[in-house]
Order: sequence, then C-alpha cells, then structure tokens
Amino acid sequence: MRTISHVMAAKPASTSDRTSDVFDPNQGNVQAQVTLGGQAELDAAVDAALAAQPAWAATNPQRRARVMFKFKELVEANMDELAAMLSREHGKVIADAKGDVQRGLEVIEFCCGIPHALKGEYTQGAGPGIDVYSMRQPLGIGAGITPFNFPAMIPMWMFGPAIATGNAFILKPSERDPSCPVRLVELMLEAGLPEGILQCLHGDKEMVDAILDHPAIGGVSFVGSSDIAHYVYQRGVAAGKRVQAMGGAKNHGIVMPDADLDQVVTDLSGAAFGSAGERCMALPVVVPVGDETADRLREKMIPAMEALRVGISTDDEAHYGPVVNAAHKQRVENWIQTGVDEGAELVVDGRGFTLQGHEEGFFIGPSLFDHVKPDMESYKEEIFGPVLQMVRAKTFEEALALPSQHQYGNGVAIFTRNGHAAREFAHRVNVGMVGINVPIPVPVAYHSFGGWKRSAFGDINQHGMEGVRFWTKTKTITQRWPDGTASGDNKDAFVIPTMG
Ligand code: NAD
Repeated sequence: MRTISHVMAAKPASTSDRTSDVFDPNQGNVQAQVTLGGQAELDAAVDAALAAQPAWAATNPQRRARVMFKFKELVEANMDELAAMLSREHGKVIADAKGDVQRGLEVIEFCCGIPHALKGEYTQGAGPGIDVYSMRQPLGIGAGITPFNFPAMIPMWMFGPAIATGNAFILKPSERDPSCPVRLVELMLEAGLPEGILQCLHGDKEMVDAILDHPAIGGVSFVGSSDIAHYVYQRGVAAGKRVQAMGGAKNHGIVMPDADLDQVVTDLSGAAFGSAGERCMALPVVVPVGDETADRLREKMIPAMEALRVGISTDDEAHYGPVVNAAHKQRVENWIQTGVDEGAELVVDGRGFTLQGHEEGFFIGPSLFDHVKPDMESYKEEIFGPVLQMVRAKTFEEALALPSQHQYGNGVAIFTRNGHAAREFAHRVNVGMVGINVPIPVPVAYHSFGGWKRSAFGDINQHGMEGVRFWTKTKTITQRWPDGTASGDNKDAFVIPTMG
C-alpha cells in the first residue's frame, strides 16, 4: 500500500507510527496510508525553519517573487497530474479539480507582485528634520491547517503570501486527501525555494495542537469547520499567535420575483450540487420571494436536477462525483433524514443512489427540500452535501433577514433585475461576501476572502492585501539626523511632544 509521508528539511528525533487511511471515493476502498506526525516531527521542522528563515527574509523581494513565477510555470506544466491526483482522493470531477488548482494559482500570481505589495509608507518632514516611515516584516514562521475540500487552492492561498513576504511555512493539510498538497510543496522546492522554507507535515488533532502551542510559530491560518476553527482560534491566540480561522457556511440565494428563473436554475444546479456540495461557497439554501416565485422555481428545478449526471470523478460528462468518504456520506444522509423528521418536504431524495460498477463508492444523488423553516436544525447547520433547501419568504425584508440572522455569514447571493433591490441587499445583509446575480461570489485573488459571524474567527481575511498584512508585522520608524553643529538647522527645533 502506498504511504504518503511528510516533506521535511530535517530528520526528527523520533517518528510516530500512527497512520490514517486515504480512501478512493469512486470505489470506496483504501488507496493509501498517510503518516500522522506529532511533536517530534514538528520540533524538527521548526528547527529547520528557524535556521532557514533569516536568509530567506533577507533575500530581496524580487528574488522571492522569481520563485513564485517559476512555481507558477511548474504548476501549469503539471496541471493534469495535479488535477488527477486531487480528484482521485477528493472525488471532485477533473474540471473542478483544475479549477481548484487554478484558483490557488491566481493567489501565486498575486504573490509574483510582492515587491510592490510590500512597499511601506513614508512621511518626509513629520517634524523639523524628522521623517517617519514604515516597513512590513515577516512574522518568522507561519503554519497553515487546511480542509479536505480544496486541497490545492487553500494551501496556495496560505503558503503563497506567507513565503513571498519572507516567512518560513509549515503546511498541515487534511489527512483525507494529502497527495496534492505534498506535490505542491515539492514543486515549490523545485522552483528554487531554499530547504526549510516550506515543509509539509501530516497529522490530526495531535499535530494541530503541537502547532498551536509551539512558541516559535508566529502565525496560524486555519480553514475548516466552525467548531474546530473556534478552538484553533482560541488556543492559538492564548499562545500569543496571530490567528485567522475560517469556518463553515450556509450560503443563501435570494430569488426576487423579477429574476431570470432559467438562469437561476442553471446557477443553482452548479452552485448547490457542484463538487457534491462540498464547497464553503456552495449555495445550499434558496429563498424565493413570494409563493408564486417559489412554485415556478420548484417546477423548473426538479427536471434540472433529474438531468444532473452523478459519476466517477474521471467521467468528463459527470456534473459531480462522490463525497469524500463513507463517514461524510452517512452524515449527509442523516441530515436528509433529520429534515424529513422535522417536517420539511423532501421533493427529490438523493439517498440510496448507486452507480453501476462502483456500488461501494461514496455517491449521493441530488436532494431538494421545500418548506424548510428557520427553526429546523437541518437549516441551522451546515450539511456540506448535494442538498438544496428551499425556504419561502413572503417579502424582501423577510428574505434579507434569513442570511443576516443565520449563525454563518460566509457568502450570499441575490438574483434580480432590480438594481435598487440588489444595492439595498448588498449594503444591508450581515454576510461577508455577496454575489449579485453571481451564485458563488468568491473574490478574485487581488481582493480578499473571508466570511462573518461563525464563518471566520479573527480579523484579517485570506489573500489580496489582507494576506500580506496577515503574514507581516508593521514596523514604524521615526528618524532624525541632527547635523551635529551648534547652529545646525534643527538643533533647537526638536521638541519632545507633549499630550497638551
Ligand atoms: P475539518 O474541520 O474537519 O478539518 C480541517 C482541518 O482541521 C484538517 O486539517 C484536520 O486535520 C484538522 N482537524 C480535524 N479535527 C481536528 C481537531 N479535533 N482538532 C484540531 N484540528 C482538527 O474540516 P473539513 O471537513 O476538512 O473541511 C470542511 C469544512 O471546512 C466545512 O465546514 C467547510 O465549510 C469549511 N471550509 C471553510 C472555508 C472558508 O473559507 N470559510 C473554505 C473551505 C472549507
């Protein structure tokens, strides 16, 4: 059986013999084992990072950017291999897997411009003979803990800006699909990154806790489910680190009576069911305004769902593939049952779906609920599967209140032809990322990504200039260069500032 190992610059004093199964979601069998590390592996990686980081931080930013340019070329040259590797462990179809790599690569492209992004501020003559300037310096060592659902994009979101700004970085990818992150780290090294600047350690809670407690790690970026995000945030902050911890989501799509319903159905088919619903920016809740809109939408949605092709991840015709493992499949199906028990109407039931020749694969057909109510547990919690829940609203105000009052606040979308309603919605909704006739409003790499409420803990978003800010500390220098003569032009001018 294949073993997936850490990528480290130094040998640990001891090694853990714990492993975790990596499944083939198409077939349902174990395809590899991933090594799970602990304190000893982390200590060795941190020592190597500490040894390498000062020289990397002292390397001028255009040279650091050149590594990013080279890495971009290598990822593009290896796109097919990366997408196949990712899809084989995650289960998303190849087109989605390429999108996963591509959206990460766009952050690397942003990092190619790091010399510009790192420029500080300067004020000449802030006082007599006094200038003030600021610079951004790296935190030192950063760590990233990533979820299973974007095994290429999210590691690149994190290590790109961390490394470009002069940090060393330790990546702890999801143990469910670790091969693609390992390959990305290898490609960074091939691109010319010095040993010790990027390492990949596999593990579970034991490794995460070791990272959160290690005194030499200055910043931790986490993406995963909300309870764990909250835990990571609290423990990391208590240990004196800077932490950003992105959590779960339950994104709503508001459909106004004037929306183009055929377009909405197309958008929902991709946004609710694509990647088997395993996206934090999926759209699993649709809120039609008015019963007439709801009835028309439901009528159009059912045949669109029947036309969806669920297939193995290498099937070019498939709209989506299996979910990541058997436990997750069970969890999604349990939520469907909860929805039924709570009294929502299950219009299309995706449970019990099997694919001929792949009977043990982790497939779930698309499901649609109607008449879902805000007090139902299945509405309040994240399902993270191919399940669309329809919550009917009578008015715009009622629709606006639903995502605004929900515990999660990652993304939201409104579908309408009315610019005034869209503008009003975007201004007032209590959610971090908003789409106007855009079902999955993931901001481009030079803007930043981050939700509100229980979708993100910490103040600084991922990527764009927020990524640069997260991975650096600002130092501000106030300088004065008296000329040393008794009659120097600024001799008497320097006055100690007072509070008066
Ligand atoms: P997860 O929380 O199970 O795992 C995330 C990471 O935490 C993994 O690296 C895992 O090894 C580690 N981990 C697991 N259990 C832990 C524990 N008890 N203590 C410490 N660390 C632990 O998440 P997942 O299932 O891999 O990913 C799906 C979740 O991620 C969904 O909730 C999804 O919404 C969320 N997500 C959020 C965003 C965002 O930007 N807001 C993006 C992608 C995914």
